[in-house]
Amino acid sequence: MSTRIDSNTAILRYAATPPTDEQIAQIRQILAKRFRNKAIALELQKDDQLTGGFVISYGNFEYDWSDRGRESQLESGLIVSHDNFLRRRNPEENIISILKGRIEEFELYAEAKEIGTVLEIGDGIATIKDVGNVNYGEIVIFDDGTRGMVQDIQKKTVGVILFGDQRGIRAGSHVVRMNREAGISVGEDYLGRVVDALGAPLDGGANIRPVGYYPIEQPAPGISERQSVHEPMETGILSIDTMFPIGRGQRELIIGDRQTGKTSIALDTIINQRRSDVICIYVAIGQKASTIAQLVNTLKKYDAMRYTTVVAATASDPAPLQYIAPYAGTAMAEYYMHRGQHVLIVYDDLSKHAVAYRSLSLLLGRPPGREAYPGDIFYLHSRLLERSAKLSDELGGGSITALPIVETQAGDVSAYIPTNVISITDGQIFLESDLFFEGMRPAVNVGLSVSRVGSSAQTEAIRKSSGSIRIDLAQYREMAVFTQFSSDLDDMTKKQLAHGQVLMELLKQRLGRPMPMADQVISLIAANGGLLDDIPKDDVKDIQRGMLHWFHHMQEKICLELRQEKYLPFRLKDEILAAAKEYLADPAEADRKVEDAPLFEEANSSVSKPV
Ligand code: ATP
Ligand code: MG
Repeated sequence: MSTRIDSNTAILRYAATPPTDEQIAQIRQILAKRFRNKAIALELQKDDQLTGGFVISYGNFEYDWSDRGRESQLESGLIVSHDNFLRRRNPEENIISILKGRIEEFELYAEAKEIGTVLEIGDGIATIKDVGNVNYGEIVIFDDGTRGMVQDIQKKTVGVILFGDQRGIRAGSHVVRMNREAGISVGEDYLGRVVDALGAPLDGGANIRPVGYYPIEQPAPGISERQSVHEPMETGILSIDTMFPIGRGQRELIIGDRQTGKTSIALDTIINQRRSDVICIYVAIGQKASTIAQLVNTLKKYDAMRYTTVVAATASDPAPLQYIAPYAGTAMAEYYMHRGQHVLIVYDDLSKHAVAYRSLSLLLGRPPGREAYPGDIFYLHSRLLERSAKLSDELGGGSITALPIVETQAGDVSAYIPTNVISITDGQIFLESDLFFEGMRPAVNVGLSVSRVGSSAQTEAIRKSSGSIRIDLAQYREMAVFTQFSSDLDDMTKKQLAHGQVLMELLKQRLGRPMPMADQVISLIAANGGLLDDIPKDDVKDIQRGMLHWFHHMQEKICLELRQEKYLPFRLKDEILAAAKEYLADPAEADRKVEDAPLFEEANSSVSKPV
């Protein structure tokens, strides 16, 4: 929109005393200089609403020199000084003296505010006119303090989505342009906190001291700024780490029907980072507040809030907040990535995000497309997920790993949003209701899941020990279907079935029990070596648990080497096989020996809780 100034008359409103001739001359001078127009006439009006001073309006510009205007100018000046102080964190500076200086130096600045007027308001959308040359994505503030973001620019009007309550806004209300794009404060102070999509704390805790302000929309890192994904982001979930490894900087979709354990996988992955240097951000979009509260409690229970920020836009929040929440979370993540740190971000979930965006778009009058989503729905998620990256070493080598979650209806992965997000991500973990109800939890469908980064994101030990587990499982599933009614099977088939069953049992994992790499390697070597095949199906989990427990106590050397070296030479593999055989020869006796063994140091152990 272009600035439009209708007449040549500026209105000067005053409270009790009209301005002196000298003041009028001064004001004329300022206007002539600012608008390069010497012929602006001044019309004086008395305004009882003002407490003191003057307000000069010219077109859609306003100079607020009233008492209230001075007050708010001083206030915002103090906030800026405070922000700058926090950002610099210079030990030589003293915040009190800075603020004092600011007050002493305070002078009313002759900067005009650009003011627009609300034409229409409803459903969280305001249509405004005359707000000057606003940019897309810019923040505006309404009379009552509500913030909004410019989201739709037409020839004569601008559509603004509101981040708060619309009840204080009427047709004719004023809107002030802020001249800055929507953003969020960032900093380490956010760790351990639950905040809304604008960064305000929701957990009733202390004020957050940010160190910077990041725009919520940023272009993704370019090709030359990246490097290929090569470091593992361990989830601690055996079926994922062995078959669909996730690397730092990767985007892996978690997809499945409702109540199939999608959130649980993300949660376990966050919990598993307690022994790593990864910072976690969990973005909840359109979920119930009670679900989020429960999730935060779980994170606290496992001491995982320490390195986690939860950004929550609940189902009752306005659609604009749900829409910006994942972008805000990503902006927070970028702060750490730019400092060379590693971040894991979970978007739970993008189906609800798409729905929030759809309602916004329809209210803004954009034409509906397939499934009534607007035409740019693909871009909505692609520009979000492209921001996850592994930065090049020159840029510090930081990374953002994204775990977007998408909900399907009746397992239909070919619906609009699922296909979109599948094509944007580097693989998907497909969770199946049938498996979930059979008791196979996590309910990962081995056939439909994939990680396109593959083994380059695995440690060598895991890669070597996983062997042909994926093919064995696929063969088992096929054969199980073929043989379910036949009674006399040949030995070879029986063996394959038994092996498949053991693998299926092995991959079951309870909630909140992420497995360290060493435990995964030991389990895999024992299973792939066929050592567990003779164990009855129902005992497999118990034996696995006992065996790992025994390894921690009686084979500390092996565990230590695995943890430190992350390699698996043939010698070590043979040692593990021999040790596992020793345990399996008489598990009950071995378990008894563990009980007699001296207490081991929790800190040195690769696992503190059994699987
Ligand atoms: P929604 O669609 O409601 O978001 P979801 O797919 O995110 O659901 P979760 O909330 O993670 O699913 O899990 C659903 C239920 O399944 C929870 O009660 C959870 O405790 C249980 N569950 C998930 N994974 C496991 C597991 N590995 N072992 C046992 N129970 C599990
Ligand atoms: Mg969920």
